Amino acid sequence: METVWSVYYLQEDIDKKLCGSVLIADLASTLKPRYHFAALEGANYERLPYRNHMILQENAQHVTRFIALANISNTSKKKYLYAFNIVPMSSMESTELVKQPLDVTESPYAKMAKEFQRSKLGESASDTQFFFDLSKREGKKRLSGEGGPHQSKQARKPPKPTSPCWFCLASPEVEKHLIISIGTHCYIALAKGSLSPDHVLILPIGHYQSMVELPSEAIEEVEKCKVALKKFYKSIGKRFVMFERNYKSQHLQLQVVPVPIQCCTTEDIKEAYIVQAEEQQMELLEIPEHSDLKQIIQPGSAYFYVELDNEEKLFHRIKKQFPLQFGREVLASEAVLNIPDKANWRECKYSREDEIEFAKSFREGFQPYDFSLLD
Ligand SMILES: [Zn+2]
Repeated sequence: METVWSVYYLQEDIDKKLCGSVLIADLASTLKPRYHFAALEGANYERLPYRNHMILQENAQHVTRFIALANISNTSKKKYLYAFNIVPMSSMESTELVKQPLDVTESPYAKMAKEFQRSKLGESASDTQFFFDLSKREGKKRLSGEGGPHQSKQARKPPKPTSPCWFCLASPEVEKHLIISIGTHCYIALAKGSLSPDHVLILPIGHYQSMVELPSEAIEEVEKCKVALKKFYKSIGKRFVMFERNYKSQHLQLQVVPVPIQCCTTEDIKEAYIVQAEEQQMELLEIPEHSDLKQIIQPGSAYFYVELDNEEKLFHRIKKQFPLQFGREVLASEAVLNIPDKANWRECKYSREDEIEFAKSFREGFQPYDFSLLD
């Protein structure tokens, strides 16, 4: 957060803890203006221009210049006027528009985007959120909150769900009889309404929304879960397929569905996703193995991807709408498992006794590979 506030702490007489606005910062990083003027602190300050794109990961965009101006006719003769020529974006060549000045810096808001997203997802106000206190400085917005803006830096706890969550391990809503294995950061549970009795979910124990928001120690454990599941499925003649849909879901669920090896090759499964995505006019990008999702997508953005057993991923950036069951429908289709009547999970109801039985036999088979029992 340090750099964010540095935008606002302009001079030694300005208290950086009391100025700035998280909401305006979020607005500025979303709207990406070419110029951002501020005047509330009565000081003149021009920040170095900053980038609005991630270098080598996104197309180049125009830079933003943040300029704070002092009060009109102030006695200390600080600059309060800024005159300049500007050509509207619409009449500029794009190459001209995205030219990067030599002194350009990273965006001061990049670091904070994640923190802000997290607070929007429901950390309680008393924890790390800031609120505006309008009473103390005659209408001048100021940040308050115990510990000041730096407090969120130490907030390493997962965000808390805003409503009851079926997947937070500590939540009373969790169906304990479906749990297969519990690690330090993640757990494996049978999927409700599964495509097959060995269709499972890898879930974070804490309330994280997606893989791109997961802390690195939890990502490492997800990798261990994947390795263990792959070995187990291989031992029973099945292939590992996993997908994540970060859209209209509150708690990360990595759906892992085994496909019998004699039924399809990895290429067949890949082809089925590509063909069915094309039918729905969705673009699937191929992402090489070992690539990091965090370099492709920002926290808070909606996406879908399927990961094959060779670690190749097919990725779709969700813009407005997305068929919620897509990942599952492709696997249920004739091209893969050929169980089209199971495409909708709501129609795959099993009795509690069946679920207990599935979980018991999965646990027995999985035990020699269980990531939580190794190390
Ligand atoms: Zn949760």
